[in-house]
Amino acid sequence: MRAGRHSSVSLSAGLALSLALSRAAAQTPYVTLMPSIVAAGSPELIRVAAPDATGVSGEWLGRKIQFFRSQNGRAWLALAGVDVEAPAGDSTLHLTIENQGGVSRDLTRMVVIHGARYRTEPLKVAPQFVQPPPEAMPQIEAEVALKEKVFAASAPEPLWSGDFRAPVRAAPTDSFGTRRTFNGKLASVHKGMDFRAASGTPVHAGNSGLVVLAAPLYYEGNCAVIDHGLGLFTISMHLSRIDVHEGQRVTTGQIIGLSGATGRVTGPHLHWAVRWQGAYLDPAKLLRLNLSDLR
Ligand SMILES: [Zn+2]
Repeated sequence: MRAGRHSSVSLSAGLALSLALSRAAAQTPYVTLMPSIVAAGSPELIRVAAPDATGVSGEWLGRKIQFFRSQNGRAWLALAGVDVEAPAGDSTLHLTIENQGGVSRDLTRMVVIHGARYRTEPLKVAPQFVQPPPEAMPQIEAEVALKEKVFAASAPEPLWSGDFRAPVRAAPTDSFGTRRTFNGKLASVHKGMDFRAASGTPVHAGNSGLVVLAAPLYYEGNCAVIDHGLGLFTISMHLSRIDVHEGQRVTTGQIIGLSGATGRVTGPHLHWAVRWQGAYLDPAKLLRLNLSDLR
């Protein structure tokens, strides 16, 4: 009796295990994330191997993921990511593949977001001393609205191709994600990467795309924004000169201007930011992603 009960327990446990394993085996080949360790601030190349699908849709942490077909047509790809300020823990990556005849298959899964260890540094000046003067407020508010409008529209297909390249030949710093605190409270998070570039250093397009903003702004100084499609943008700030105009197509490596010290800066440098659907991603990780052989 005891032995029988014991074996029936292990049988049902074994059945549950084999069911779980077969479900995992059925799903595993379909979806891969690169990098496979997901952290706050990571760009992620999501690949869904579903050659027969007519479409793939996704949503992650409140952001819509737009997929495109790989060159050989065997997979659907999306360049997405996790915002630098996203909390560590489990997240739900919603994925649905559409097949012929309107049949859809749910591939939703849990993705663990690991905490990234970003530096914390105390602010050297009190916030009231870095507050803009009241007369600058109308300009700042107008620019907030302008940036919202610029980032709200993006090309419906990828405009980038191949690997992203560093915008300047200058030393990068590990400044992305640095938390600046004032009196122990979080005052700001640094959402880009600073390159130690002397004024006049040529700044290149990190990848091909469309210039959607090329203008002097209060905080950003001379600022150039490139739309790479499907919600992905790169932003270059504090330029001494802008050499492109809004509406201009650029190719990878094309000079878009010269670095400088315009806007709210303490010295010349290039601030380079990567934004996807409102999330700020680590430029260093984007530069390390292998995007040159997407099949
Ligand atoms: Zn910066």
